[in-house]
Amino acid sequence: MEVSIKNIRKEFDRFAALNDVSLNIASGELIALLGPSGSGKTTLLRLIAGLDFPTAGKIYFGDEDASHRSVQDRNVGFVFQHYALFRHMTVAENIGFGLKVRSGASRPPKSEIRRRVSELLEMVQLSGLEDRYPNQLSGGQRQRVALARAMAIEPRILLLDEPFGALDAKVRKELRRWLREFHDRTGHTTVFVTHDQEEALELADRVVVMSGGKIEQVGSADDVYDRPGSPFVFSFIGESSHLPITLRGGQILFQGQSIGVVSESGEGAGELFFRPEDVQLVDAADALYGKVTACRRLAGTRIAEIDIANEGNAPYHVEIEVPLYEPVALGSDLRFRPTRWKVFPG
Ligand code: ATP
Repeated sequence: MEVSIKNIRKEFDRFAALNDVSLNIASGELIALLGPSGSGKTTLLRLIAGLDFPTAGKIYFGDEDASHRSVQDRNVGFVFQHYALFRHMTVAENIGFGLKVRSGASRPPKSEIRRRVSELLEMVQLSGLEDRYPNQLSGGQRQRVALARAMAIEPRILLLDEPFGALDAKVRKELRRWLREFHDRTGHTTVFVTHDQEEALELADRVVVMSGGKIEQVGSADDVYDRPGSPFVFSFIGESSHLPITLRGGQILFQGQSIGVVSESGEGAGELFFRPEDVQLVDAADALYGKVTACRRLAGTRIAEIDIANEGNAPYHVEIEVPLYEPVALGSDLRFRPTRWKVFPG
């Protein structure tokens, strides 16, 4: 099921939690809503679910305007952190609940509910645990029951709010892989909220980066990491440093001096962004340079923290990757140039 979100605004007491948000989600896509706390991710998910309604704008499911339809009418499956499993029900009862409470003719017969529950148990790899109660399961198993419960109603869309939020790092990773496989097998249109960028970049077909109630950028992991479209996305996704610069005659100048990097477009003030891994150490006068204030090992890399002098003000702090097996001395001077970078007009 394709979902189109058109110019959505959502106000709470005149505070705009979402402001002019538009997004097209293709049928079968796995989409991550990623952004800092308060950026509007959960609000957007709740509007798609029908748990809340927009102040302005529309939400289409396929060709149908679903903006003011109820949760039941929308037939979405959702797993919200605070919608815990029913503690007094077994795993099987939890999964079958959504079907059992259906009214009249839409309620399948008991035998059909049993068949579907056992199919779902198999799908989430929990066969044999149907008679357990939620408190007899691990966190990861509970999360999978919650997903099976959401899937039981054969939803047109699956919505997940921080689905792995409360789990430890190892279980999160396992469930991540599992969700990707599950999604590929079932082909449901799925939207999940996370503030874990690794999770978003690894799992999603496309990542929607949000900030302050707006969409900053929508794209694949490669798009948002390699081609960030705004200073916010460059800073928010991955590690980066930035410095105020001037563009003049095809050169990038920092504090009036060329840094040996050619820029093809633009003139005037700007902000130079680069990632720690996108630099090379050089032995040249026209480069960025500063003193090493710290050097730390980070998994398979080594990161040097450098203070770049700032004409009487506090130094600019940047971080760059240095060769792993040649640690640099604290207090030494390093010269470097960015090899991949982006200038945003300042
Ligand atoms: P988090 O990662 O912390 O869950 P989020 O990106 O999901 O954050 P939302 O929960 O969508 O953010 O909230 C967006 C903004 O709307 C916040 O400033 C929040 O305080 C506000 N907000 C959300 N729900 C309500 C509400 N029911 N009443 C008033 N303000 C609300």
